[in-house]
Amino acid sequence: MSHPTTASTIRWEQDDEGVVTLVLDDPDQSANTMNAAFIDSLDAIADRVEAERDTIRGIIVTSAKKTFFAGGDLNDLLRIGPDQAQEVYEKNLRIKRGLRRIETLGKPVVAAINGAALGGGLEIALSCHHRIALDAPGSRIGFPEVTLGLLPGSGGVARTVRLLGVTDALLKWLLQGARYSPRRAQEAGLVHEVVATPEEMLTRARAFIDAHPESAQPWDDKDYRIPGGTPAQPKFAVNLPAFPANLRKQLGGAPYPAQRNILAAAVEGSQVDFETAQTIEARYFTELVVGQTAKNMIQAFFFDLQAVNSGANRPQGIEPGQVRKVAVLGAGMMGAGIAYSCAKAGIEVVLKDVSAEAAAKGKAYAEGLLAKALTKGRTTEAKRDALLARITPTGDLRDLEGCDAVIEAVFEDPALKHKVFQEVEGVVAPDALLCSNTSTLPITLLAEGVQRADDFIGLHFFSPVDKMPLVEIIKGERTGDKALARAFDLVRQINKTPIVVNDSRGFFTSRVIGHFLNEGVAMVGEGVDPASVEQAAAQAGYPAKVLSLMDELTLTLPRKIREETRRATEAAGGEWRPHPADAVLDRMVEEFGRPGRSGGAGFYDYDEATGKRGRLWAGLREHFGRGGSGGSGASGGVGSEGNRIPLEDMMERMLFSEAIDTVRLLEEGVLTSVADANIGSILGIGFPGWTGGVMQYINGYEGGVAGFVARARELEAAYGERFAPTELLLEKAERGERFTD
Ligand code: NAD
Repeated sequence: MSHPTTASTIRWEQDDEGVVTLVLDDPDQSANTMNAAFIDSLDAIADRVEAERDTIRGIIVTSAKKTFFAGGDLNDLLRIGPDQAQEVYEKNLRIKRGLRRIETLGKPVVAAINGAALGGGLEIALSCHHRIALDAPGSRIGFPEVTLGLLPGSGGVARTVRLLGVTDALLKWLLQGARYSPRRAQEAGLVHEVVATPEEMLTRARAFIDAHPESAQPWDDKDYRIPGGTPAQPKFAVNLPAFPANLRKQLGGAPYPAQRNILAAAVEGSQVDFETAQTIEARYFTELVVGQTAKNMIQAFFFDLQAVNSGANRPQGIEPGQVRKVAVLGAGMMGAGIAYSCAKAGIEVVLKDVSAEAAAKGKAYAEGLLAKALTKGRTTEAKRDALLARITPTGDLRDLEGCDAVIEAVFEDPALKHKVFQEVEGVVAPDALLCSNTSTLPITLLAEGVQRADDFIGLHFFSPVDKMPLVEIIKGERTGDKALARAFDLVRQINKTPIVVNDSRGFFTSRVIGHFLNEGVAMVGEGVDPASVEQAAAQAGYPAKVLSLMDELTLTLPRKIREETRRATEAAGGEWRPHPADAVLDRMVEEFGRPGRSGGAGFYDYDEATGKRGRLWAGLREHFGRGGSGGSGASGGVGSEGNRIPLEDMMERMLFSEAIDTVRLLEEGVLTSVADANIGSILGIGFPGWTGGVMQYINGYEGGVAGFVARARELEAAYGERFAPTELLLEKAERGERFTD
């Protein structure tokens, strides 16, 4: 006999044998979240299990939704301000207490994880004594909180540390935001059993209850030791050990408060008893919830990403389309990656290079990626074979017949690009979408040699294509709406995120990342210690150090782009203004023969045999060390011998130079959406994620846009007119407005 009761978001079902099933089932939402109704229900359930303890043999926690449990309500989080800290803290303790009361009842509690358990879902599961996950397709288990600037605050840090030890908990689960399949979660020790069917899940749950009439968490045993050796219930707090060196390195001092707080909650919490660990966790959680960074990141990763992917920029009224067969021209680094990504999404690919052999090399790249995926258990042999069968390498134009889209990725040479489009236009389907993956050449210019210029569009991928989620779609002057809609659909079809920009040299991403690189290089020329320049990029939160990135891209590339841009600017009657970085790059290439990594030497030394990156080139200090143009000369700098610039200035020169030019791109109409600018800056060019994107960085700057403008003026006075605020910035500052769509 069953006795259902209505506790609003958690349903209580009890059978004749005393097994209570708690069904997570929010009646008002499609997914379960930790909203106010849930917290009330949790209290009510905790009261009831305690009151009816003697009639209960065991508890199964499961969900009636497709996912097990979704986590916090992000809309709510965006509205919480610093004055609500106490409220957040108390609410958090209430959730922890509710879960803890069920956990310490003395009866077996089993999580029957029927779908994704991310964040709060995994935390609820971890408060159960035994976890059985259903091997549902696409089902994922993990803590994505860090990617939103938060930490798992419902006991997630305290329990994961107790299960896996501090280092594994941090590196594999808490700091990465990684999501694992149920099988991998089981291998890692967070899940006990993985089953194939819902029926089996419930049978196994009952079997656990039958076998463990009394049950508790391992950390509630007084002799339990946290993996790594610390007692789980120490009688007194011991001294904190030094943070593991690899963790410190990984954080690199970047301004990601979530990572800092997770690290602190984990390490401090591992030294004290469970209840104290929960209080520590609550404190760090609250600090993040009321702070600005989490809001920035939620806005960008959740709301902006949704806006971008849902197609606010896609022309309306055009039927969604699917590409069946794509011609990829050029099987070099980019072409090979594009071919792989298309084939992965189920599209037939004809990969064309100058010869069948050259094309086969491109296909070998996909083979390499798949071999790795296979060893890591990320694909199966059958899937690998099917994907490879979809890629046909060729040197023969005739094989492109019937392709309904073309993606060109030959050398960055306008004459060559014109030639290959002329060749293929007559062979592929008569209405095929024509895309170029140029990284800098104006699309309007490339379209000149093409007969159907309205079907011609830029599709700018990022390297490595299989990993980078962004594609920048560039609309040329003659590109039609239909081509734009089809390009948008193609990008979504291959599961990437599209931003849409209007044509301009370098578009959005290539142009803006150039400022970051230029500032780093310019500082070397001013005599700033190059190691400090690298450190400043890391401290600002950039994923790549500036000089090492410059080496990867080669120092010859910006020189080439600069020459082309100079010629085009002067031809259009504009005034060409050199950048202080130019002279440094020229000397590096011409005087010192150091063109970057592919040339064997750049800002860094590279091992001749392995090509591995070594140290920063000692000659940098010798040749540029006592330069000293620009710079405020103020104290607090990190340079050793050369010019000392405050670290804050170094970081902000990189951030501001990118932000100011992004505003200019909005003024010029190259960018038309703030959401695109935010997402594109994070996913495409490594603008620090803690900011919530380049426009959100300006909005969130201390003092808002006006504060940003005031600081830009200071940088302008100290380092040059390139930091002068633009008209739009001045206008927004004056009106007290923010940048929004
Ligand atoms: P790459 O040198 O690795 O490959 C170019 C390939 O094109 C070579 O395999 C070459 O044999 C082939 N090719 C030359 N002429 C051809 C022809 N007539 N027909 C067919 N194939 C021909 O270059 P890449 O790095 O892959 O760059 C390709 C394009 O992508 C360039 O326009 C580049 O600007 C752009 N891009 C590069 C990056 C990057 O990070 N490398 C990023 C975005 C865009």
